[in-house]
Amino acid sequence: MGAALRVAVVGSGPSGMYAAAELLEGNKATVDVFDRLPIPFGLVRYGVAPDHFSIRSVRENLDRIWDQPGIRFIGNVTIGQDISVDELREHYDAVVLTYGASADRALGIPGEQLPGCVGATDFVAWYCGHPDANREFFESYLPTIEHAAVVGLGNVAVDVARILAKTPAELQATDIPEHVRNTLASMKLTDIHILGRRGPAQATWTTKELRELGELEECQVVVDPVGLTDDQAWVTDEKVHQRNVDVVRGWMERPRLEGPTLHLHFLTRPISVAGSVHVSVVQVERTEFTASGSLASTGEVLDLPVEFLVRSIGYRGTGLPGVAFNDETGTVVHVDGRIEPGLYAAGWIKRGPSGIIGTNKKDAVATVESLLADAGAGQLSTGTGAIDGLIAHRGLEVVSVAGWRAIDKAERDLGAQFGIDRMTISDQATLVEIASLGER
Ligand code: NAP
Repeated sequence: MGAALRVAVVGSGPSGMYAAAELLEGNKATVDVFDRLPIPFGLVRYGVAPDHFSIRSVRENLDRIWDQPGIRFIGNVTIGQDISVDELREHYDAVVLTYGASADRALGIPGEQLPGCVGATDFVAWYCGHPDANREFFESYLPTIEHAAVVGLGNVAVDVARILAKTPAELQATDIPEHVRNTLASMKLTDIHILGRRGPAQATWTTKELRELGELEECQVVVDPVGLTDDQAWVTDEKVHQRNVDVVRGWMERPRLEGPTLHLHFLTRPISVAGSVHVSVVQVERTEFTASGSLASTGEVLDLPVEFLVRSIGYRGTGLPGVAFNDETGTVVHVDGRIEPGLYAAGWIKRGPSGIIGTNKKDAVATVESLLADAGAGQLSTGTGAIDGLIAHRGLEVVSVAGWRAIDKAERDLGAQFGIDRMTISDQATLVEIASLGER
């Protein structure tokens, strides 16, 4: 191979960082990793639950990628806004899109727009200290509520319910920002409901994550038995699902205690949301399996008092101008990660929101293989290499690795004041200002 390729990676989450690492290996390419935030690592920082310390520690592995020669972080730059995809393509030999799936799916039921009904991405962003989170809403609203519900039987639903259910002591060692922990500590939740339209055997959560719900200090899991006489709700051939079923069965045998309760409702789906100023009632219907295994309504309807409803029914990718996009799937149109020669995708924007962090490594490597095959076949146009000129011309305030390191240090120093490893700084202007000190 001739001179190293120049590649732009859009998004510094796991798939972007794994794609960059693969390109750097053997000096195949120099890589600029763009992110719209002044901080790298995407969902590892703003999605993985703060109390999942071992999964969060993936950050340290990703951070070491910055130490390799040939890679730069170009943070605080939004592709599609500050710089277009076409401009990137002009300046680089190839562009890899790894900007994930950041939008929520809607339930499509009446009343869903009422205040108090939010997507999991919004709530997760808030408790992880994302700069774009709607702090004002969560911090004024959450202390006023007593009943919350989460729709969905996936790992994100489990994260959301667990963070709502944990005591301040259980969250003490996390890097949750001070304003978030204060709000969570002031909440007076008596009931949290998890609403799943199918049964324990069909849930997509993983057993380790599910079990954690049964280990909470104060909040007790109670399984709603309605509908669970339907055998199909319990039957599965998959080992992981069978383990989940066993966990749920175990909970059904436990005696009920006083105190806050986490209700697990299976074969239950929301059909409308009502309230005068904000959500106050969620109407749910009981479902059942038909002989063919699809879902049908039983006609039984129930009103649950709920002031905070979190939709956790999957994330969705959004398109970028000039990039072929499939609205149905919320993913780019590609073959083996190749949108067209010179333009590639990896991670959730390529395959949809599924899998664990490690899944993105394999996925990114496969995409890089397509890129290198095109380079080998002479199908890439050589970029101008003049991106720094464009950035300067636009007056963009870029955050580099040095800026990120300054933020990293500031967060560790802040954490030390609270006796913890790190405390997340969430304010965008503060982050950029700290980074600018590191750039000098
Ligand atoms: P998910 O696993 O796809 O779960 C989505 C849930 O929403 C499913 O239970 C689905 O039920 C339900 N749902 C979809 N549409 C619905 C509707 N209209 N009404 C009611 N329910 C509906 O997605 P996720 O929880 O957002 O997780 C995304 C990915 O991140 C997953 O791969 C997950 O494992 C991963 N993740 C991992 C961790 C971890 O490892 N600790 C933590 C967080 C996320 P049906 O099955 O009936 O469609």
